[in-house]
Amino acid sequence: MTNQLFDLKGRVAIVTGGNAGIGLAMARGLAEAGAAITIADRNADNSAQARASLERDGHQILACVTDVTNPASVAQMVASTRERFGRIDILVNNAGISIAAPLEEMSLGNWQTVIDVNMTAPFICAQAVYPEMKAAGSGKIINIASVLAQLGSGGAANYAASKGGILQFTRSLATAWAVDNIQSNAILPGWIDTDLTIRARERVPELHDRIVSRVPAARWGRPDDLVGATVFLASAASDFVNGAALTVDGGFSIQG
Ligand code: NDP
Repeated sequence: MTNQLFDLKGRVAIVTGGNAGIGLAMARGLAEAGAAITIADRNADNSAQARASLERDGHQILACVTDVTNPASVAQMVASTRERFGRIDILVNNAGISIAAPLEEMSLGNWQTVIDVNMTAPFICAQAVYPEMKAAGSGKIINIASVLAQLGSGGAANYAASKGGILQFTRSLATAWAVDNIQSNAILPGWIDTDLTIRARERVPELHDRIVSRVPAARWGRPDDLVGATVFLASAASDFVNGAALTVDGGFSIQG
């Protein structure tokens, strides 16, 4: 019974930003639970490498070069997924970027770019998969927000605003599409060791130790730390979980 709850055999998942960092770990975790996976990102070389490494382990993978901010590109990716795998059960809106700057110096362009990728793209992707999920009578949408959705950030206001927006968008999706048996939930990661945070640590060298001292678990998160939450929210185990915000941060955000 317990094994069946988390079994994704026969399911198909799209993971945006699945060629690196947290997205790659999630793609691998969902594939290990049995799902076929489309990874959707811009960098064709990284995607080809990620696909090859997942296929070596026997998983069914489609790598689609996609810009998630471009509706036509997303529509093409969704059509390719349907063509290759015949269905779409799970959407993980994971692709994300950060362009940090003090608030008073932040350009409108950098504000908008981050909002486009982190907040508007999940809307584009959710709309694109909806007809498939509605027709199937079920679906799972998982939006990757951040603990900063609730805490804010003076040095990355665009990022925190985009993640706050995606959290409320998740609750809106959960309300709107529950009637179609589509569950929509958010994961709020804390500080995870990926390219995104490597760039932040290059800018602020003391960040590494500062985070370790504030996380009760006394370490940075690893991409694999997000896999359990993702498989849970993608599987039948979470069929009555809708509009939830699942924090995965080693206790960082309870520190105040
Ligand atoms: P990475 O920088 O390691 O990976 C980001 C991924 O997003 C890449 O695969 C990248 O691929 C893809 N991507 C970026 N822009 C686009 C686009 N326009 N279209 C398609 N794909 C795109 O970041 P992380 O793994 O750290 O982050 C993953 C998610 O987790 C993000 O939403 C991030 O905000 C969130 N998060 C991360 C935390 C952390 O501490 N690392 C903490 C909290 C949340 P490509 O460049 O090929 O397009």
